Amino acid sequence: MNREDFAILNEQVYGKPLVYFDNAATTQKPQQVINAMVYAYTHFNANIHRGVHHLSQVATAKHEEAREYVATFLGAASAKEIIFTKGTTDSLNMLAFSFGEACIHEGDEIIVSQLEHHSNIVPWQMLCERKKAVLRVIPLRDNQTLDIEAYKALLSDKTKLVSVAHVSNVLGIINPVKEIIQIAHEKGIPVAIDGAQAAPHLTVNLRDLDCDFFVCSAHKMYGPTGLGILYGKEKWLNILPPAEGGGEMIEHVRFEKTTYNVLPYKFEAGTPNFIGSYVFGEALHYIEKIGREKIEKAETELCEYAEQQLKQLKEVKIYAEGQKKAGAISFNVYHNGKLIHPFDIGTLLDRQGIAVRTGHHCAEPLIDYLGVPGTVRISFALYNTKEEIDVFLNALKKAIMMLE
Ligand code: PMP
Repeated sequence: MNREDFAILNEQVYGKPLVYFDNAATTQKPQQVINAMVYAYTHFNANIHRGVHHLSQVATAKHEEAREYVATFLGAASAKEIIFTKGTTDSLNMLAFSFGEACIHEGDEIIVSQLEHHSNIVPWQMLCERKKAVLRVIPLRDNQTLDIEAYKALLSDKTKLVSVAHVSNVLGIINPVKEIIQIAHEKGIPVAIDGAQAAPHLTVNLRDLDCDFFVCSAHKMYGPTGLGILYGKEKWLNILPPAEGGGEMIEHVRFEKTTYNVLPYKFEAGTPNFIGSYVFGEALHYIEKIGREKIEKAETELCEYAEQQLKQLKEVKIYAEGQKKAGAISFNVYHNGKLIHPFDIGTLLDRQGIAVRTGHHCAEPLIDYLGVPGTVRISFALYNTKEEIDVFLNALKKAIMMLE
């Protein structure tokens, strides 16, 4: 749907029409979003907050309107809970630092899962090293879903935080985050959700989810690069210290003592990405105009169709086969019982105009667990079609034939 808004989809790759199936890495931008960036720089580029002049006031209003809209879009209780960051990775690093400073002590435990992206592992590992805390890992069952019974058994008085992905960027599966949150909350443990792959595909409602923290990236949601969201419940953000110091985040600076700004500015040191926030707001309006339910339905159909077709190929092994997926499918190709390196498949597909991602997808612990050097991942966005999946399947069959 709406393909005409995405001029880049008319590009040719090696003389073949581009089939862009690397949307989990980043989505393409509709013309409306590209225009919004040009509009912002053309009409209201001025540094925000504390500016007495008109242009600064316009830029400030646009930035704060965008924050309000992000809060509405994600179902947050208040715009004060929405912190603009550089992206999911930045959000998780900020959270790990702030939460770690306030709440983590020697011997405490933090729980992540086996299928996390590196950005939901490494910041917690760094925190654990700093504070002599312990990282615990929720294992997977044989069907590559999270082992909820094992998760329950990991929770203890020492557990101070659970941080898991809503949707796996490798397997595409949707984790039962609501259940995970409820189980942790019964023991008074807060939960952070890595929503980088959920926010682009599912209707996320933070009040309904009831997570304590949530992070996502604008560039995976038809928005600009260099912008992300760190959501935190107000009660948490009030007690956490800022992760970075500088302008914006202060109330008063004295050499004896500095006091901090109110929420959300306490967590936004320096000039924020006020052009990016406006452009992201326009991207969210674009999504809403089409309708999130419509997008989710179309993408689910694409996933189901692709999986069903891939299943017909005896050389293909699909991961988390049969599980409901949001936007992504990982697989590998076996020839005469031997795994064909995913890079080789990716290269053969690229030569036919098809952009897929291969490798460890920044989730090495999961890839190690699967016991492979990597996977081939196809991932969809609202503009992809069944016809493109057919082109991809033909290209894949051709690639497999070339291995004969
Ligand atoms: N978590 C998940 C689940 C992701 O898919 C990604 C991006 N691949 C990230 C975190 C990191 O996002 P970013 O690179 O935008 O910071």
